[in-house]
Amino acid sequence: LNTTDLIEEHRICVCVRARPLNKKELTTKDLDVITVPSKDVVMVHEPKQKVDLTRYLENQTFRFDYAFDDSTTNEMVYRFTARPLVETIFERGMATCFAYGQTGSGKTHTMGGDFSGKNQDCSKGIYALAAREVFVMLGKPNYKKLDLQVFATFFEIYSGKVFDLLNRKAKLRVLEDGKQQVQVVGLQEKEVKCTEDVLRLIEVGNSCRTSGQTSANAHSSRSHAVFQIILRRRGKMHGKFSLIDLAGNERGADTSSADRQTRLEGAEINKSLLALKECIRALGRNKPHTPFRASKLTQVLRDSFIGENSRTCMIATISPGMASCENTLNTLRYANSPLGD
Ligand code: ADP
Ligand code: MG
Repeated sequence: LNTTDLIEEHRICVCVRARPLNKKELTTKDLDVITVPSKDVVMVHEPKQKVDLTRYLENQTFRFDYAFDDSTTNEMVYRFTARPLVETIFERGMATCFAYGQTGSGKTHTMGGDFSGKNQDCSKGIYALAAREVFVMLGKPNYKKLDLQVFATFFEIYSGKVFDLLNRKAKLRVLEDGKQQVQVVGLQEKEVKCTEDVLRLIEVGNSCRTSGQTSANAHSSRSHAVFQIILRRRGKMHGKFSLIDLAGNERGADTSSADRQTRLEGAEINKSLLALKECIRALGRNKPHTPFRASKLTQVLRDSFIGENSRTCMIATISPGMASCENTLNTLRYANSPLGD
């Protein structure tokens, strides 16, 4: 199976990844309601009860470009999602890879790496795996002669505001010039010479992201993190790969919260995830008008949604437990929409 050929036909690839039941779910004897019967199908088996109290399973089927079950490694997910997009940026294109799903479903594990134990390891996340591939590609004769330089940025969008994770969370302004170019003013672009340089930046950014927070997940569930690998040739942009760990999609429920700030954050997240869906749909349909101005997230990613050579991949992450059923179904419906009519 040649994944690059497959991607060439599609500007959008949508996948789903289920994680294993975690300790908490095992302790509370939560049921695993997800199966992956084939490499592109995921099923949700939701336990229900009829009025006469007989129990049954409501089975719902969703088809994606790929469905990854809970035994799939990050490397495998990477191989079928982000890896085929690395070539795009060498061919002067824009590549974008999103992780979308509820808090705790595995977005950060997939994109950033494993931060669960004491050994924080970002080397197996898609950020690092993509960066490693970039340096391998740089050495190939065809690309070596282009004399490309590699840069990285890492920032966060929180409540519609942009913060630089490579510069002590400096708050940055987003400007759109007369030529519709969007600029994040003052965003640090660090030159990287090898994979290890990239790993160091990911660590810096991650610790910056969570510093001063009581819980890493409480904060990251409310913000989008954007990690970019930029290729430049004689100073000019050649290609850009944006890898995004999105805010938890369950935050929509916050719009009924008693706390005003929480409510505003929820509304902002809703708005940006909706705008993202519309932009991806427009990209898939070659629509001339992409509604990228509808949110800060889509605005800063404008380059990703326009242009001939833009490719996008979405990894929808789902929690397997019965307790997460409603969120899981919401995630699957959202992820399915760019593919359907
Ligand atoms: P999110 O970023 O979506 O909130 P995390 O990536 O932080 O979720 O994952 C929540 C927990 O589940 C973490 O402890 C993480 O290590 C674990 N986890 C997530 N995905 C997997 C997976 N595919 N295999 C094993 N553990 C996982
Ligand atoms: Mg996370």
